[in-house]
Amino acid sequence: MTLRPWARRFAVGTASAAALVAFAVPADAATPTADTSAGTATTAAVAASAAAVDYATWQRDCQAVMDQAMPYLKQRIADTRPGEKQAIVFDIDNTTLETDFGFSYPQPANKPALAAAKYAQDRGVAVFFVTARPGIISGVTDFNLTYVGYKVSGLYVRGFFDLFKNVADYKTAQRVDIEKRGYTIIANIGNSATDLSGGHAEKTYKLPDYNGQLS
Ligand SMILES: [Mg+2]
Repeated sequence: MTLRPWARRFAVGTASAAALVAFAVPADAATPTADTSAGTATTAAVAASAAAVDYATWQRDCQAVMDQAMPYLKQRIADTRPGEKQAIVFDIDNTTLETDFGFSYPQPANKPALAAAKYAQDRGVAVFFVTARPGIISGVTDFNLTYVGYKVSGLYVRGFFDLFKNVADYKTAQRVDIEKRGYTIIANIGNSATDLSGGHAEKTYKLPDYNGQLS
């Protein structure tokens, strides 16, 4: 069968977007001990998301965490000290984007996280994203975050040598870098333990990962 030019373009575009998402998914799923081969991780992530939880439950669980975070964030932002540059650090996959639920590109925002980010960014708080996604997809990730409403003050992706580091150590090092740039990290929000360990944030808020089943 011969595709008409527009149909062929659509087919290629669809394939590319699917490949992009498939490539994006295993990045945060990778842990120092996991099988990080793309095919295995992608299959595992898809299977896990299907088995772990339905979308409505996930959204309700995320909302419950952000309902706890918001009163603190509102108070802490209102109490900004003179000269203080406040920042919030977010994980990306299944924290700020619906990675394991939104099989499209751009991926939709995780709405409870977006609401918190918008509250903060509208009040001058810098919003940083620290992800285990590899640097090669930095551009599409930045576009995706901006497209769905995040104001990206900085995006930290893993460089080649970071791929050999423990994910928690890598993410902690990025928060140290943000602090070196003069920011006070008032909150660090993620859905994996490796997003949040290591300090360098006044508060941490953990969204669900259902025992590691969501990246
Ligand atoms: Mg995540």
